[in-house]
Amino acid sequence: DSRDFDAEIASVCPFCGVGCQVSLKVKDGAVKKVEGINGPANEGRLCVKGRFGYDYIHHPHRLTTPLIRRADAPKGLNVDPSDPSTHFREATWEEALDAAAQGLARLRDAHGGQSVAGFGSAKCSNEEAYLFQKLIRQGFGHNNVDHCTRLCHASSVAALMENVGSGAVTATFNEIENADVAIVIGANPVENHPVAATFFKQFTRRGGKLIVMDPRGVGLRRYASHMLQFRPGADVPLLNSIMSVIVEEGLYDQAYIDRFTENWEHEKQHLAGFAPEAVADLTGIDAATVREVARVFAGAQAGMIFWGMGISQHIHGTDNSRCLISLALMTGNVGKPGAGLHPLRGQNNVQGASDAGLIPMFLPDYQSVTDDGVRSAFAGIWGDDAVSPEKGLTVTEILDAVHAGAIRGMYILGENPAMSDPDVEHARAALAGLDHLVVQDIFLTETANYADVILPAAAFYEKTGTVTNTNRQVQLGRRAVAPPGDAREDWAITVDLANRLGLGWHYAHPRDVFAEMKQGMKSLDNITWDRLEQEGAVTYPSLSPEDPGQPIVFAEGFPRAGGRARFTPASVIPPDEQPDAEYPFVLTTGRQLEHWHTGSMTRRSRVLDAVEPQANCSLHPATLRKLGVAPGGDVVLETRRGRITLMARSDRAVAPDMVFLPFAYVEAAANILTNPALDPYGKIPEFKFAAVRVSAA
Ligand code: SF4
Repeated sequence: DSRDFDAEIASVCPFCGVGCQVSLKVKDGAVKKVEGINGPANEGRLCVKGRFGYDYIHHPHRLTTPLIRRADAPKGLNVDPSDPSTHFREATWEEALDAAAQGLARLRDAHGGQSVAGFGSAKCSNEEAYLFQKLIRQGFGHNNVDHCTRLCHASSVAALMENVGSGAVTATFNEIENADVAIVIGANPVENHPVAATFFKQFTRRGGKLIVMDPRGVGLRRYASHMLQFRPGADVPLLNSIMSVIVEEGLYDQAYIDRFTENWEHEKQHLAGFAPEAVADLTGIDAATVREVARVFAGAQAGMIFWGMGISQHIHGTDNSRCLISLALMTGNVGKPGAGLHPLRGQNNVQGASDAGLIPMFLPDYQSVTDDGVRSAFAGIWGDDAVSPEKGLTVTEILDAVHAGAIRGMYILGENPAMSDPDVEHARAALAGLDHLVVQDIFLTETANYADVILPAAAFYEKTGTVTNTNRQVQLGRRAVAPPGDAREDWAITVDLANRLGLGWHYAHPRDVFAEMKQGMKSLDNITWDRLEQEGAVTYPSLSPEDPGQPIVFAEGFPRAGGRARFTPASVIPPDEQPDAEYPFVLTTGRQLEHWHTGSMTRRSRVLDAVEPQANCSLHPATLRKLGVAPGGDVVLETRRGRITLMARSDRAVAPDMVFLPFAYVEAAANILTNPALDPYGKIPEFKFAAVRVSAA
């Protein structure tokens, strides 16, 4: 009953890229309940994280005052978050901001601006992401600024930019309503995009054919017309074999190819070597199934392709996406109702943070830093020509540069590389080796353990700002409650830091930042703060002040030279680290329904932690039997980089030679084990494949 609450505030769920709109029920200054409201993506629905993952904002571990490291306190994972006073002393904002800015400025002045780098966050608003990249670019004169998109869809974006001319989805996931077939590959929406998954399930109930492809038998298999559980790492030969059937049997859309694409003949020749019979041993999928799937997809009136980290987090992640783009193009499945390419974005604002320029090679709206015209346009908007023409370093390259001594200081906002980076001991050693580390966050994260200065930030429901979901829908998150203690909104902290670095910024409210963003971002044309306040969401591109936005793009060609999309053939590149006698299993990592990324929020949410309290991995029952481990018993996982011990679950969906490992648990951190080898284009690490040894604990 609404009379039970003091206020009901409309906002957006802070977790996954679906971007469900929520109503926050507030009583006595605290959020007491969350309900779904009728946003364009969720139509009133919520998953368990959106519904129950809110009380972390009232957790006693929240940072409430700025902290400065004590002179003699060692750096490392040794700070008790309920009593940081052993390693840090409380400070005023003035003192902490001075210390943060002076430490970074000293490094800049002594070693050049390139000695400082920044990690921003997809947990922040568009305005906060924009200000963060502007601070690094303008304050330090280079582009060493990145965020978790590097660990997420960087390879998908590289392939989409190359072949389609735009990194965003070509159709909203809700367009599946108009499809008659859909492929979901390398994604587990039932756990990772649960509300999107409800639309996928509805689609099958009305007769839509769902083709699920994944090395793990993920949750959507129960709804699939075809489930292809292929060998890990065999994505390119599998997708090429599907396309080779489409070529061999003449099932492609010649009229679409002629009108809208280039390089088709080259692609066609390349695919001749991938007959399904020839690659069945490699993929583990029999030729008859591949032929049937090819006929079903190519024979559809309209088909969509969805993918996730199972596609992107490989050293051949860009090639995987190139294949999916080619498959959509050859069947004419872009730019019409019920058709399109949709890389499911993981984090609630990873699309928006990327759009806002939190990427080392691009200014806002994916405009290259190497383009003189782009830099001069931003010089006009920012009032100086500070932007360097050199592409900056990516997340993993920045940590390598710390080890090499080239980067000595970092400003990290809302990211947790001490948990989220591959080969995490390498990342932790880099953080420990910095001369000056400023961390801005809501909790004393594993990364904050290495900080010199910690700046306490507001959580999502404590601030106002825009975010952009996987559907390109720009939505307004509204402040429902005040931050605890002295914690402040990220944008305001970044402005104060910028001004201490001499940048002379004047922003009184996020709407001022949004207005500046619109000057350099055509994607925001016709989207105003006032519209967002009134309408809650506008999809980009929006063609007029009345247009709610375009769910489908590229009906009349692509934003590339000549308006044509491109086929880029992909060859087979095996995973970097093959199983062998010493490390005979394949390790793959991911999320699980109840926990979010490194667990800093959901493990402090009462209901979610109660449901899923313990570090765990999943193995096939036959594998557990061989190991002599009962379900629920402990196993040791060991790779060339480290070892962890944790509880093993029995799961028939995991192939007998695989281990599935969620990465939310600090006590058994998955990234102690993962392989840091990078995709050469997207620079994304191979989180989805490492050779591992499994034994009873
Ligand atoms: Fe939040 Fe995603 Fe769940 Fe929606 S589906 S409630 S956005 S976590």
